[in-house]
Parts: sequence; C-alpha cells; structure tokens
Amino acid sequence: MIINGKNIAAKIKTQVKNEVEELKKQGITPGLAVILIGEDPASKIYVNNKKKACEETGIYSEEYFLPKSTSQKDLINLIKKLNSNNSINGILTQLPLPNHIDEHEIANYIDPQKDVDVFNPSNIGKIMTGDAKLLPCTPAGIIEILDHEKISVDGKNCVVIGRSNIVGKPIALLLLQKNGTVTICHSKTKNLKEICQMADIIISAVGKPCFVTKDMIKKETVVIDVGINRKSDGTICGDVDFENVAPLTSYITPVPGGVGPMTIAMLMKNTLIATKLQNNI
Ligand code: NDP
Repeated sequence: MIINGKNIAAKIKTQVKNEVEELKKQGITPGLAVILIGEDPASKIYVNNKKKACEETGIYSEEYFLPKSTSQKDLINLIKKLNSNNSINGILTQLPLPNHIDEHEIANYIDPQKDVDVFNPSNIGKIMTGDAKLLPCTPAGIIEILDHEKISVDGKNCVVIGRSNIVGKPIALLLLQKNGTVTICHSKTKNLKEICQMADIIISAVGKPCFVTKDMIKKETVVIDVGINRKSDGTICGDVDFENVAPLTSYITPVPGGVGPMTIAMLMKNTLIATKLQNNI
C-alpha cells in the first residue's frame, strides 16, 4: 500500500485550523516566525511552503529574509526580540545556516517554549526522557503516518538508516518509546544489507537516490522514505528504488507526497502546541 502523506497532512492541518479558530475566539492567534539567511533556492521554497501552510491553518506568520553576510550577533539579537514578542509563539531558523554561524550556539537562544523546530538542547534532551511536548517535525510526522495507518511498532525490528540530529537519532528514540527494537545504521555500518533484511520497518534518511534496493528488504516490510534528492532533470526522488521495492512492501511512502508534507503539517501542529503551552491551555 502506498501511503498518501498529502492526505494525512491535510487532515492534520484541518485539525490545527479548527483549533486555531477556537483559540481566536479566546483572543489568541498563534504566530510563527521563520528566519532564512542567504539565498539557497531550496530553502526559499521551504520557507514559502511554510508561509502557505500558515495561511491555510489561520496561523499568523512573519518571514525574515536576511543576507548571507548576517552576523551571528545580529541573528541572536533577532531571536531575542522574537522571544519577547507576544504575537510570536514559534521561532524557526531555516537550515542550513551559513558556515560563519554556529548552529549549536544559535539553538541555545531560542526560547524552549517557542522552539517549534526542536532545536534547543533542552528540548532535544526531553525526547530522550520521553517528556517532550514539542517533537521534531519530520520524526513526529513519521510517527503520525505509522499511527494513522495503524502500523504497530511494538516488538518490531526497526532499522533507521541515517543518524542526523534532525531525523535519524530522534526517530530512533521515538520508535524505541513505542517499544520497537531499534538499530541505527550510518556510513560506517557493516553489513547494512543483512541488517535491513531483518527489518519489519525501515526508515531511510540518507539523502542518496536508489540507496534502498529490493535485495535489502524482506517481504511485507514497511518502508518510510525520508530522503529528498534532486535528480539531474530537476525532479525529486527519495532514497528508495521505489519501482522495484514497492511491490515487496506492506506499506511504503512515496517521494514526493510521503513524509515531506507531514513535516510542514507537524510544524503547524507544533506552533499550535507551543501557543497553548505559552497560554497555559
Ligand atoms: P544528513 O546528511 O545529516 O545525514 C545523512 C545520514 O546518512 C548520515 O547519518 C550518514 O552517515 C548516513 N549515510 C550516508 N551514506 C551512508 C551509507 N552509504 N550507508 C549508511 N548510511 C549512510 O541528512 P539528514 O538527516 O538531514 O537528511 C537525510 C535526507 O532526508 C536528505 O535527503 C534530506 O533532504 C531529507 N530530509 C527530508 C525531510 C522531509 O521533510 N521529508 C526533512 C529532513 C531531511 P554518517 O553519520 O556516518 O555520515
């Protein structure tokens, strides 16, 4: 079965929209600020998509397009201003940041209650202890997909390929919380094929086209493809050799139209959650 991430994301956005309408009746309008530094075309598209999603859900949004030369100090000052701005409940700095800006340092300045992209180490730590109110958008989107399709993780062999801070590590922790037996693979992993062949659920977050091939999976595996790769003809594909892998799977997410739309929907959900937290609702 090909999972329709667009439909699931649309449902989540509708739920968010309904809740936003209720909040507005109480005089509260959730607000999201997105900061983009530099001219990266893909990042610009992501920021515009976030703006569109805010419009769809009734969330107030502000976009800050800053030049690549922006200093770390100026960025920190902007974040501090947004931290104390009552009309802004969520703050996101679009990655990647230019090399002269220390991503880890910036993360410390985002108010944890407004940290809708889950960037601040205090929020990241709460994922490990299971106390997180805000979950990183892409991993949270994957869990929503599994829940929506009633795919149980309990006792399943879950293989996560990729160990980034934004996808691989947090999704591994969330699967562990759902009682999965989790293996995290990366570029130094030996016997990747054999490890994947044991998997009931594979999450691929590598960033290489046709990386997951049919010889790596057993029948009825659930395959979640996080990768977004641009082909030479400008089209987008995931990490999975979809055509050949899909017939073997019980569920698979396509690219585009799988995890991608979920990430933005979860950002809207996080902005709503952050607004409620800040208003003690
Ligand atoms: P990173 O580049 O940070 O991480 C890639 C991971 O893949 C690393 O851990 C790396 O291992 C691992 N890897 C690379 N080569 C191999 C290999 N040969 N065998 C096993 N593992 C390997 O990427 P991100 O996590 O940020 O993103 C991954 C992909 O997901 C990208 O295509 C990105 O565009 C996409 N993405 C999609 C999102 C969505 O909304 N759908 C959101 C975020 C990302 P090592 O650590 O050893 O280097």
